[in-house]
This record gives sequence, structure tokens and C-alpha cells, in this order.
Amino acid sequence: MSAVQTVTGPVAPEQLGVTLIHEHLRFRDEAVAAQWPERYDERAEMAAAVQAVRAAKERGVQTIVDPTAMFGGRDVRFMRAVAEATGVQIVPCTGIYSYDHLPPYFANRDIDEMAEHFVADIEDGIQGTEIRAAFIKCAADAAGVSANVEKIHRAAARASLRTGVPIMAHSMPAVGTGPRQLEIFREEGVELSRVQIAHCGDSSDLGYLTALLDQGIYAGLDRYGLEVFLPIEQRNEIAAELLRRGYRSQLFLGQDFCASIDWFAPAAAEAMVAQGAVRNWSMTLIFDEVLPALREQGVFDEETFAELFIANPRRWLAG
Ligand SMILES: [Zn+2]
Repeated sequence: MSAVQTVTGPVAPEQLGVTLIHEHLRFRDEAVAAQWPERYDERAEMAAAVQAVRAAKERGVQTIVDPTAMFGGRDVRFMRAVAEATGVQIVPCTGIYSYDHLPPYFANRDIDEMAEHFVADIEDGIQGTEIRAAFIKCAADAAGVSANVEKIHRAAARASLRTGVPIMAHSMPAVGTGPRQLEIFREEGVELSRVQIAHCGDSSDLGYLTALLDQGIYAGLDRYGLEVFLPIEQRNEIAAELLRRGYRSQLFLGQDFCASIDWFAPAAAEAMVAQGAVRNWSMTLIFDEVLPALREQGVFDEETFAELFIANPRRWLAG
């Protein structure tokens, strides 16, 4: 097992401890934020991130994996400030979070040139710092695995093979992106035990999920609170059934919580909560609501906790 990079330096895998695998300290479009900075309140964003991370720390969380990549406003200095303010280890990534669009910069460069950018973040440092990326992020969503999405996946795969760091791939079960994403990684020669398919928990299709899991991947049941994709009760039913079927060593629970996010105007965000599209979304929902429910169903004990929140993150990150 190799050291795992955090925004405050490398740590031994056994130092990761209780780990949340998919939460965002801040999520915003870097282009909009650069062009209209007055629309953003950096102090409020920092306060929200510190508050969310402190709340998780109070539940015993020692490490948070933050898969904010290009187009999500990745800012490792912001992340480091949150880590220093809270004492929680934050694990950063490289990669491109795009559902299809690529700027001409990357559209006109080939897969290997894109991969070199990821490798530089992993080996040399991110954004002029010595902070190094611990994993690679890519995404496929409603547009499916388009040519650009495939290019990013292949670049992620090649950077992973060169550096040994794992891959986290955002997926959209509603349009069944998972199998094609895995096919690309397999074609590139990536060991699928190094791949985490995020947002599997949006699906209640056990056949779809077990077909992915049986290829050896990690599956993120990681959007608790986003009722718009699947309500908590149904997420729990699926989680319980996957645990019963013995997939414990391949599962992650999480919230994909964003301490702040710029996707919606304040009134629209409030309406989503009022309409129940988002419910109790936070960095602590799984501790406060989900784990007690799973324990009540008899599918979750201390050993399961240690597997999902300590052993699985360590194994996925460190190999
Ligand atoms: Zn996310």
C-alpha cells in the first residue's frame, strides 16, 4: 500500500481512519466565478465548508474525499484552508467533470496529452502548489458516453496506469452509463478493482448494480438526501440487499453533499427543498438517519461500519 495524498500532505493508508468517500467542500463553475466574482461570497463559502466538515468530524470522520475536478471549481488552496481549520484530512483529485463539453484547449489535444495533465497533478502538484492528486475523476451523465466523455475516460485510465492512483467515475444509472464506462477502462487495461462508479445508489435496479459489482468495482451509494434521484427509504432497501448479498467490501455510503453550490438561484434551491427533491442533505445525514435505519434492519454492525468507512476507502485509495 502506498501513501495517500491529502491537501495537507501524504499520509499512510492506516492514518485515513473513518472516511467519507464523496463530499464537496464547494461546488461552482470556475469560469463564472472568475468572470463574475462579485456574485460569490468566499467567506460564506468557507464558513459553510468548515461548518459541514466540523459536523462530520463530530460524528468521527477523520478524512473526506472531495472529487471536485475541472468544471467543479477545484481550488486546492480553499481545500487546504478547510483542512487546516478543522483538522480533517481532505483528499483531492485531478480529472475533468464534464458531461460532454470540452474547451478547444482539450478538444484539440489528444488523449495522451490530456492524460499528461492528470499525471502532472498526481506527480508534481496542483495549481502551483505541492498538493498532489490522490485519484482521477471523470463523468458520464444524461448525454451518455459521448466521444468527449470517452476521451476523458481513456485519459483517466492512462493516467491511472502510469501513476497507480484509482479512478472515480460519476455515472447516471437512469441512462445506464456504467457498463460502457467499465468497458472503456477494461479496454485501456485498468484493473477494475481500482475503479469506483459513483452514484450507483441512484438506481433501484439490482440486476444493473450486481452486473457492475460482479466486475470487481467499488459502487458509490453516495447521494443520500438527493430524493430527486431516489428517496432515502429506497436507497436503504438497495443498500440492505447488497449487504445481504455479500458486497460489503465493494460499497461506499455518502451524500455527495456540497457545502455550497452555485447551480441554482437561492429561490430555486429553496423550492427544491420545499418540494422534497432534497431532504436533510448534509455531510452527516448517513450517520444521523441512514446507519440507524440499516442497523434496525439487521444488516449493519460495527464490522460493516469498519469495512465501508475505513477498509474500503483505504483499499480503493492505496491499492
Ligand atoms: Zn459529486
